[in-house]
Amino acid sequence: QGQPGVVLAHYGQASLVESASGDIIRCTTRRNLPRTVCGDRVLWASSNPREGTITRILDRKSTLVRPDHNNRPRPVAANIDQIVVVIASKPSFEYGMLDRYLAAAELLDVSPAIVVNKCDLLDAESRERLEQRLSLYRDIGYPLLFTSTQTTDGMKDLYSALKMHTSILVGQSGVGKSSLVQTLLPDLDIRVGNLSQVTGLGRHTTTVAMLYHLQDGGDLIDSPGVRDFTLCHVNPEDLAHGFREFTPFIGQCRFHNCRHLSEPGCAVADAARRGEIHPQRLENYRSLVKAMNASA
Ligand code: GDP
Ligand code: ZN
Repeated sequence: QGQPGVVLAHYGQASLVESASGDIIRCTTRRNLPRTVCGDRVLWASSNPREGTITRILDRKSTLVRPDHNNRPRPVAANIDQIVVVIASKPSFEYGMLDRYLAAAELLDVSPAIVVNKCDLLDAESRERLEQRLSLYRDIGYPLLFTSTQTTDGMKDLYSALKMHTSILVGQSGVGKSSLVQTLLPDLDIRVGNLSQVTGLGRHTTTVAMLYHLQDGGDLIDSPGVRDFTLCHVNPEDLAHGFREFTPFIGQCRFHNCRHLSEPGCAVADAARRGEIHPQRLENYRSLVKAMNASA
């Protein structure tokens, strides 16, 4: 039925497919198939050395979506297994925003990691304080890294965290995602240039999500379009499942449809009182539910 490949990018009617031997082939997709997205594992057959046809899209392990102009969810990347949530030491981050990204990753069943960038802006004492404030995330089990693209502090740790994974960087504008990508992929301009030769697209077709191989192993999917990925189409009822440490307690609430806001007999609230859930996380969860209901 064809040979295996990975979709590096999808644009217009075509996909760039990397073969098992590392060749890049421009493929069209058989008409009865859905659109491919960056990161898709596919089978393809070639009609000539530089062109092929995708004959099958293999099952996706995860699909990242973002709203299109009609606000309908549209897949942009597949088979990501790590979402790196980037926050910056300055301007100061909000817990709510961090938890929102973490919950979105959990609900996609993709494991998150947290990167605190711009740590060069912190003196030893403020860094200590920030590590202290964020240690609750380490306790929950999330990898927590401190980086600087200016001093390259922590970049080795970041490379290691990206090894063996297909990752994306997400986070608010200005935290340094583009700078991190530039640092992780020093020859990014060359790669984009090479790809634009194959695709015939301009160098600045920036909306296209692209999969890159990292020098030490692991892949990075990047596009400005996925960097601001948020909690689109998450029901407030599902949100609690995005808080990993709540899950052992969720089924034990008195009411089966407990939303863990102020209901009596809430096992999640009890766990927070006993210190088994960090009170800050419960508070963040509650503000998120309220914000989601207010905007619904
Ligand atoms: P993005 O919007 O998340 O992609 O953020 P950018 O990569 O565009 O960075 C926003 C600003 O932060 C730019 O002025 C960068 O030069 C700066 N910046 C990025 N990383 C660092 C860092 O590690 N330390 C400092 N001090 N500034 C940084
Ligand atoms: Zn409850």
